[in-house]
Amino acid sequence: MENLDPKKVLADLTKNANKYCGAVNPICLDDYVAFGGYEASSKVVNNEVDVISILKDANLVARKKLNELCADRWSGAETVVCETEDPMATLDLKVQTEAPHVIVEAMIIFMHVNNAKKGVIVVNDELAYNRLNKAVTDAKNAGLNDKDIIVSKVSIDGLKENAQLLANVVAIVQNSYKPAPAKGLKGVAIGGKVKNPGVYEIEDGTTYRKLIEEIAGGATGKVKAIKVGAPYGEYLSSDILDEKINFMSLMMNGMVRGTALIVVLDESTDMAKEISDYLGFLLNVSCGKCFPCKVGTKRMDEMVKEVVKGNATKENYNMIKSIAVNMNIGTLCPIGQKGAVPVLTALENFRDDFIKE
Ligand code: SF4
Repeated sequence: MENLDPKKVLADLTKNANKYCGAVNPICLDDYVAFGGYEASSKVVNNEVDVISILKDANLVARKKLNELCADRWSGAETVVCETEDPMATLDLKVQTEAPHVIVEAMIIFMHVNNAKKGVIVVNDELAYNRLNKAVTDAKNAGLNDKDIIVSKVSIDGLKENAQLLANVVAIVQNSYKPAPAKGLKGVAIGGKVKNPGVYEIEDGTTYRKLIEEIAGGATGKVKAIKVGAPYGEYLSSDILDEKINFMSLMMNGMVRGTALIVVLDESTDMAKEISDYLGFLLNVSCGKCFPCKVGTKRMDEMVKEVVKGNATKENYNMIKSIAVNMNIGTLCPIGQKGAVPVLTALENFRDDFIKE
């Protein structure tokens, strides 16, 4: 059999850092190195490349400050942190568990650029935690990392970026990959009523229809709703199918890309039942500190359960809407503010599922 060059095989697969996911053994350092791992960090640490210029050229936008380029933001921080706050950030978890060395390599670059003394990878998944710890230890023992990097289940103050962004930094330094929203490929996770749910890289500007019908193998029934940026994303009607998925169009429609998670619902879905399930999730994450979120979520949950039982009156609908609006504008943190958005958009776009008179 022909001897394959692993780096070429990988280059043919995809250009961004997700290329390692599923292609290398996540707990094998030698595997990662054979596929070009730690070449980028070595170049950076040895000052063979100007990372800030490369990041500027790539237009890499900071995830937590969407109007700010990483190249402008990364200018010195004693502690740098790789942290994903959203438990539904499937893309982050994927790279953390399937390619933990990418995160370690990214942290080396992140620390070097900022001249940071400490690097912390915050993760709340047990498998990812164990694999990242092993990757940190293996890289240190092999002499590939001399930085102070720890893996923690507890958050810490510092300059923060998420795992996907940092993973892309490795790819950018390796091969001048240019991520979305500037141009190029973007990772999205699609689930729900599609034949092939999963994580895909799509061209910037791909339509929802193409993503669902061609890339994810098609919906299992006629599409009724698409939830974009779950869990706090909007429930949109199928009217959006021919719109392009890109950063600017999402922003212009007042939407958030959030976790880049897209959930497809087919016509068998009762949106009141869907919102009832969502409110069950929200009840679990609300800390109860402020009234409109604490009481509002509970009241909406009770009222939407009534709708599911058949008590779908206009009065009920108006009351749920009024509580959601109050929650959207009157709560202390994004859980309450954004938490109301799925309810409001479901009421707006699927009114017939909430009023049956
Ligand atoms: S809005 Fe935030 S602070 Fe207020 S109760 Fe909900 S989770 Fe707590």
